[in-house]
Amino acid sequence: MADAATTVAFITLGCAKNEVDTNKMRALVHASAFVEVAHPELADIVVVNTCSFITEATEEALGVIFEVLEGRNFTQGTAKLVVAGCLPARYGKTLGTELPEVAAFVSVEDEEHIVDVLEHLLAAKGEKPELSPSPAPLHAPSPAAVSALEPSPTSVPTRIVDKPWAYVKISDGCDRYCSFCTIPSIRGRYKSTPGSEIVAEVAQLVAAGVREIILIGQDTGIWGADAKEPGQNLAQLLDLLATSFPATWLRVMYLQPEGLTTELLEVMAAHDNICHYLDIPLQHASATVLKAMNRRGSGQEYLELLSRIRSMLPAVTLRTTVIAGFPGETRADARELERFIAAAEFDYVGVFIYSQEEGTVAGRRTDQVPLRTRKARAQRLRDLADTIGFARTAQRVGSTCEVLICEQDEDAAAEGDTRALLGRTKGQAPEVDGMVHLTEGVPGQIVSVRMVDAICYELDGEGV
Ligand code: SF4
Repeated sequence: MADAATTVAFITLGCAKNEVDTNKMRALVHASAFVEVAHPELADIVVVNTCSFITEATEEALGVIFEVLEGRNFTQGTAKLVVAGCLPARYGKTLGTELPEVAAFVSVEDEEHIVDVLEHLLAAKGEKPELSPSPAPLHAPSPAAVSALEPSPTSVPTRIVDKPWAYVKISDGCDRYCSFCTIPSIRGRYKSTPGSEIVAEVAQLVAAGVREIILIGQDTGIWGADAKEPGQNLAQLLDLLATSFPATWLRVMYLQPEGLTTELLEVMAAHDNICHYLDIPLQHASATVLKAMNRRGSGQEYLELLSRIRSMLPAVTLRTTVIAGFPGETRADARELERFIAAAEFDYVGVFIYSQEEGTVAGRRTDQVPLRTRKARAQRLRDLADTIGFARTAQRVGSTCEVLICEQDEDAAAEGDTRALLGRTKGQAPEVDGMVHLTEGVPGQIVSVRMVDAICYELDGEGV
């Protein structure tokens, strides 16, 4: 059993999916005899939940791991380091040799057994568990422990609520195999979370005071396609959630173009509490590049899709992500993408510089675009997207809409900034878009706000 004084700290890197995974591990730790502490230097065990979908993320993860190992609790004490998430999933057995200081590696599938891993580390008294070559647990937990963690409609993973909004993962893995992407090899095949579990998790979060639920997954639009019971799809799930939780905002992220069905758009149009906000990762507009990416469509088809969306949801906010400098991308392809971004008029665009990744089809291509050119093309796209995005944000000045107050910016408040409260409209997703800066209110409140000024993607608002 864990000593009551044994402390654990978590560090999360990467995307929203990892945030959810850490949140669930924290909840399991809270339900055990371990005690969570905020600062890694004060912890007996530090868990770093890593991202490694591109080289830059891997380098960041390694940087954080080495930083943790330099803490006094490691250099002058007996603290132990656990590395979870995508890094062990991507690099497997080699990590055990490369990082002998790490006490245990926990793959994504095994995170639900985090308490068993921590118990095992204590029991082992410094003995390092073997890194499993398969996604199997580092050691075999007892059947009772496994059945207690088995997800079921009545036993959903407990969540820690520390914000008025929460991500809910409705799937994991991906079956699309885009030629540049490591996610299918890291996260495995697409797997929908059962609908009953999603509803139970949302109910738990709403009961704990969450006002906005953000459904995430690598490919949310095909949710339910792999379900044993036919007839479940994202439109039906959203309809059910919107009806069951009418006072809660619902937002869906990462909708691939194929997932944008008329049924889904009709459900979005029918419910006021579903944010008219679509995040569609298109990645490119040149049909040649898209084909080489193992993706479907063309810029023209995407413009038609956006026009259909706007005809059904006139006030929709649109976000996309694109990749600059994919192997073989010609100057003409790059200009085609720029013309598409100009014509599509997205509110927000995430521009990524192509990253050549080991183990991918695109990474093996011999026609890689020089890094300098990739960077230059990305910058042109960012400048263009910002010009459009800033103008679209400025157009919101004078409008009145609901804002969910999310947090107080403590640094801004300490500096005497009177607009230190930060909120979001239904057209702003957390962590990626702009925010609304307010003078009054309490986190968790949804208030009516008139927009009085705009700076870049940020808005100043006043309560009405
Ligand atoms: S849709 Fe493509 S880019 Fe997105 S996770 Fe799946 S394979 Fe990767």
